[in-house]
Amino acid sequence: MAKITGIRGMNDVLPGDSARWQYLENIVRHLLAQYGYQEVRTPVVEQTPVFTRGIGEVTDIVEKEMYTFEDRSGDSLSLRPEGTAGCVRAMIENGLLHNQTQKVWYQGSMFRYERPQKGRYRQFNQIGVETFGLTGPDIDAELIVLTARLWKALGIDHAVTLQLNSLGTSEARANYKAALVDYLNSRKDQLDEDSQRRLSTNPMRILDSKNPQTQALLSEAPSLLDWLDEESKEHFAGLTSRLDACGVSYEVNPRLVRGLDYYGKTAFEWVTDALGAQGTVCGGGRYDGLVEQLGGKSTPAVGFAMGVERLLLLIEALNQFPEDLTSTADVYIAVMGEKAEQVVMPWAERLRTDAPNLRIVAHNGGGGFKAQMKKADKSGAHFALIIGDDEVANEQVAVKDLRGDAEQVSLPLADVANHLITKIDGVN
Ligand code: ATP
Ligand code: MG
Repeated sequence: MAKITGIRGMNDVLPGDSARWQYLENIVRHLLAQYGYQEVRTPVVEQTPVFTRGIGEVTDIVEKEMYTFEDRSGDSLSLRPEGTAGCVRAMIENGLLHNQTQKVWYQGSMFRYERPQKGRYRQFNQIGVETFGLTGPDIDAELIVLTARLWKALGIDHAVTLQLNSLGTSEARANYKAALVDYLNSRKDQLDEDSQRRLSTNPMRILDSKNPQTQALLSEAPSLLDWLDEESKEHFAGLTSRLDACGVSYEVNPRLVRGLDYYGKTAFEWVTDALGAQGTVCGGGRYDGLVEQLGGKSTPAVGFAMGVERLLLLIEALNQFPEDLTSTADVYIAVMGEKAEQVVMPWAERLRTDAPNLRIVAHNGGGGFKAQMKKADKSGAHFALIIGDDEVANEQVAVKDLRGDAEQVSLPLADVANHLITKIDGVN
């Protein structure tokens, strides 16, 4: 039989890696609670029009990256390629946008049929934040300030920069688009094939081209900033003044367009040059038109999504993971002899009750003292507890310091939990 393997571009998170994910997720969860955001969980599969209508027919995602299939009743369904459209669908369907504001976040797997490489996968994870019902630049600023705080908490703030742009109102964009198409049409033969095609489908996306020749051509092209309407200019100024007030620095990049059609006014990306080509770790912006596009009442909205794998790669590249993430235990219990085997489970249970914040691992599978101590060391535990015949007879436990040079002591079982709590708090 052929070997069964996972799917290309879809990765397992193995036991040795999951602590890193949880580390990041815990920091994000705590931080979003600090700002009063609530989690939403939506299905990974939606009816295809949620994305084709939401993201836009002529975007890369919809044109060539979606996992679309018919279910058994012939409905066209798609695995979500991003989180915003499904989130908006859920908000509308459950009536959560009428006369109220929402600040929500989500995390989960997204699916895009892309060429797998470092930082780019077919199943990947995003943590996203969305807000609804808020028009002013203060909320745009809050989202950016919140991400800046997150980078600090993760120790990567020195390696990311904020790129900022305003995409204007749809009217301003239409005018600009016409000017851009004019300019590019007269130089069409110098454009790469992809950009030539986009000239008629989605010309603004050409600004995002990675082709150096196209980029050179664009340096002379009309700038979106010169076509901005008054309202968008004011909104942008309101955003930048707040970022200034909070000490968040940014680069205005008039060529920053996002890969999804629904953005207007604010667009931003956090980029790094520590990850090679896959340098965008977080991107977002304002999408005041999307709710209506998906059948709801016109509702202002702004949000962003970050790529979890890319953030993990960046934290790793910068050596910012806490050292003890690989440990599985604070305390490892070694067991010598039949009698100890008999008491170890109830004794370990008692310790877990008395010291609920400690990870207490009892040795399984027998074996000699040396082998057990080797396992204790490998677990990362600060202390080994040793239970042998003498200890069972006296209801005592031997406590051995695995990381420092404290003398081995024997303590009554009843005192062990407290001893460990004070010692290990001191270590941490
Ligand atoms: P890129 O330009 O790198 O393709 P994008 O503009 O398509 O990114 P978004 O749709 O804005 O990305 O998604 C937000 C974030 O999700 C990105 O900034 C990135 O960190 C992450 N991301 C997007 N696609 C992938 C992927 N295929 N694999 C891993 N992470 C991804
Ligand atoms: Mg992409």
